[in-house]
Amino acid sequence: MNAEIISVGSELLLGQIVNTDAQYIAQKLAELGINMYYQTVIGDNKERLLNALATASARSDLIITTGGLGPTMDDLTKETLSNYLGLDLELDQTSWDFIKKYFKKLNRPLTENNKKQALMPKGAVILPNHFGTAPGAIIEKSRKTFVVLPGPPNELQPMFDSYVIPYLSKDSEYKIYSKVLRIFGIGESLVEERIKDILVNQTNPTIAPLASQGQVTLRITVRCRKDQNPLELVEPVERKINERLGDAIYGSNDDTLQSVVARLLQQKQKKLAIAESCTGGLIGSKLIDVPGISENFLEGFITYTNDAKIKRLGVSRATLKQYGAVSKQTAKEMAEGVLKVSDADVGISVTGIAGPGGGSKEKPVGLVYIGVSDHDKTEVHEYKFSGHRNKIRNLAANTAIDLLRKALLSM
Ligand code: ATP
Ligand code: MG
Repeated sequence: MNAEIISVGSELLLGQIVNTDAQYIAQKLAELGINMYYQTVIGDNKERLLNALATASARSDLIITTGGLGPTMDDLTKETLSNYLGLDLELDQTSWDFIKKYFKKLNRPLTENNKKQALMPKGAVILPNHFGTAPGAIIEKSRKTFVVLPGPPNELQPMFDSYVIPYLSKDSEYKIYSKVLRIFGIGESLVEERIKDILVNQTNPTIAPLASQGQVTLRITVRCRKDQNPLELVEPVERKINERLGDAIYGSNDDTLQSVVARLLQQKQKKLAIAESCTGGLIGSKLIDVPGISENFLEGFITYTNDAKIKRLGVSRATLKQYGAVSKQTAKEMAEGVLKVSDADVGISVTGIAGPGGGSKEKPVGLVYIGVSDHDKTEVHEYKFSGHRNKIRNLAANTAIDLLRKALLSM
């Protein structure tokens, strides 16, 4: 089956928004094994949309439109498609009732043109919109399938996942399964370098690397017969990747660094306390994102000034004077200090220069020390992060959580 996308919206042509809808659909179709050869972007213009529909139906089996389902005059996708296919628009009572209820719930006045959103091409399969008012539609005509979707991504994505994918896979003997491996601490290019041979030789499963916010993910996707166990295909590849990347892989699918750390704290029965300076409570906040962490996370200190480091954690005045607040020695005393003032088994500390000011030649912006202590021993690691203030703070917090993870693994 060959597919193509027609994205409707003048905003897209003017560069005011990026076509993330097409990106989303393209990725999903690729996973389904549906080929896509063309994507078109077109303004809110009836003549040009008619032309695009004619061109698309001459060369593709599946034509997906996005956008232009709103209540206003310039929203004309459904009208133009019905016109093209020679179908009448008729009121879909279920959709109309839903729209009326939706407006009532939001306490917004309903206007006559809202009714336009419930007018659907005759014979269409209606796709309910759980996050907005415009329903989508699937129309089968002359052995072509037309799928009409709303523009806002928060409406389009759930509609696509809940209704379009099942519709497209219903006749198929195949299913798609994917597993995401989550990696921290090594960059995308190094990941690719280490698994290059696995990446290039793989056709089923396929492996797609993706990097964002200092983390790398590898999506392993298999296509298999409906009665087959997809893990039979995923696991051998996953094992090979594990051998190459080791403990840089911190988890899979919905895991986050902090959820993995929370799980490890629980498994190892360890209590944690935190001493933060430049991260300003970010580590504590990220850990508290995980429900149930109160069993293992006792307390955190934001010791921002030298005085606070001395008073709260017992860092020595001499150390601060001789080495400075951003130093290996201070990080060590902070991590050990937080263990002394709490009942924790493991302490972590962060001290660094987040910028934009405060850097020097010896101690540049981005210099961060992270300490981990467990009563027996203390390690301190030095990092030089780059970026603006909040990026450095976020990298420092994630790195600290990752160090904690590695320390817990060896306990
Ligand atoms: P509405 O009912 O909100 O008018 P619609 O189905 O008519 O929805 P459009 O008017 O085309 O859709 O677009 C509405 C909004 O959805 C745009 O302002 C934009 O924020 C987003 N949007 C539209 N098309 C795309 C796209 N292809 N990629 C990403 N976002 C999009
Ligand atoms: Mg609109």
